[in-house]
Amino acid sequence: MIRKRNLVFLGPPGAGKGTLSEILISDEKLVHISTGDIFRAEIRNGTALGSEAKAYMDAGKLVPDRLVVDMVAARLAKDDCAGGFILDGFPRTVVQAEMLDQIAGKTGRRIDCAVLFDAPRDLLIQRLTARLTCRNCKANFNKLFAKPRQDGVCDHCGGELYQRSDDSLETAQNRLKVYEEQTAPLIEFYTAGGLLARIDSSLPKDRAYAALLAVLS
Ligand code: AMP
Repeated sequence: MIRKRNLVFLGPPGAGKGTLSEILISDEKLVHISTGDIFRAEIRNGTALGSEAKAYMDAGKLVPDRLVVDMVAARLAKDDCAGGFILDGFPRTVVQAEMLDQIAGKTGRRIDCAVLFDAPRDLLIQRLTARLTCRNCKANFNKLFAKPRQDGVCDHCGGELYQRSDDSLETAQNRLKVYEEQTAPLIEFYTAGGLLARIDSSLPKDRAYAALLAVLS
């Protein structure tokens, strides 16, 4: 069992945060909180929050902090987070990280580790533009590196695979630029707080997962 359980997964889009989260929650009782998945669910359900977020997401921009922070605060306050959680894709700005410290403080929780998923830019673009996502269970596959057994069908649940609209080349490039400008400063933030751990997420999935377990143990 891993020792560090209140986690932030940090890193550019395509670095494998979602993929390794899926594996980790199958081994450990942790709650996976992906702000991107929550927004996509809001869009599917046609909510006001979803329609406001969609315009930003389709452009590869960040959704404004005010829409994200309350949503995460409400989720972290739930009892099921008491045994640990993975924040995947949150925080994405220094303001969000500061708000997270406040939110966590209010619910008596503290971040144990911020894991930085490192991978070269070319690989990220390749992964993003070839990514396939299951509409049902959100599992990720890849047309180049991790093909599903049957075209267009999820290996885990039989759900339909689709390409996320923000995984087009243009939007993926924009998301990486936004990451460099707005999210990468969090590396300094968490280093200063003594919480940063790095893993090489260009490694094959099983080796990257072993590296993740090592930094969390
Ligand atoms: P992801 O699934 O993490 O790649 O997120 C997809 C999109 O959702 C991002 O490109 C943003 O538009 C939006 N998003 C997700 N999380 C956040 C966040 N913490 N702050 C602002 N926007 C976010």
